[in-house]
Amino acid sequence: MIDINMKKFVFIAASVFSGAMCLAQSSIPSDYRDDRTEGMSPQMSEFYAPQPAKVTPGAQAEAGAPSDAIVLFDGSNLDRWCSGNDGVPAGWSVNGDGTMTVVKEAGDIRTRDEFGDFQLHIEWRVPACIHGEGQARGNSGVFLQGRYEVQVLDNYENSTYVNGMAGSIYKQSVPLVNPCRKPGEWNVYDIIYTAPTFKEDGTFRTHPFVTVIFNGVLVQNHTMVLGTTEYIGFPTFGAHGKGPVTLQSHGDPSEPISFKNIWIRNL
Ligand code: MG
Repeated sequence: MIDINMKKFVFIAASVFSGAMCLAQSSIPSDYRDDRTEGMSPQMSEFYAPQPAKVTPGAQAEAGAPSDAIVLFDGSNLDRWCSGNDGVPAGWSVNGDGTMTVVKEAGDIRTRDEFGDFQLHIEWRVPACIHGEGQARGNSGVFLQGRYEVQVLDNYENSTYVNGMAGSIYKQSVPLVNPCRKPGEWNVYDIIYTAPTFKEDGTFRTHPFVTVIFNGVLVQNHTMVLGTTEYIGFPTFGAHGKGPVTLQSHGDPSEPISFKNIWIRNL
């Protein structure tokens, strides 16, 4: 439980941080890294209230890929993926039942192809036996253009900072509600992404925007992404073109997460 003083602290910290975010958007140089990040701790960008309401999602039918989609993973192989670090083959396990599972030592994986605006479908599941708590419980993530993270985490009965919950834009935007299914069941993300455009000096002409439907429930409604995902301090940015879809291998000790049925449509 969070006591009153902690609630006050969180509120003040949230107010200062969001105010600073507004300032950060108004006047920003290229390849921007905010000097105010210096000396910040991770906790200074973690907020605990208000909690998104819990929503029980409806039954969900299997969503096959539409005819114009690029199938990124159909269960058979990882040919469309490579290591996120150095471009070598993706080292995650393909299980023979239509799923793949994170191999933590292999690190992140990313698509070999790069994308601009897109619609992405991806399903994920944490093991029924999962242990751990907070961010150390089924943590992964979908990095849009390799930079902007839609958080993946078991939040069925697991509390953490609200801007780090499943369906958050990590440390930037809290999900509208919490429709997470219980461990052992499949969760579905449908993500509609609009890539940013940049001015010549590398600042945003238009920010990235993300809509996330989580188990059929809207959790991000055309949300403006402030910049790159940062564990500590403020988002950064610099001009970029198309980018991959990157899946995170998080370093926590909880049992590894699995994915299946991943497809994307260029928009
Ligand atoms: Mg993550």
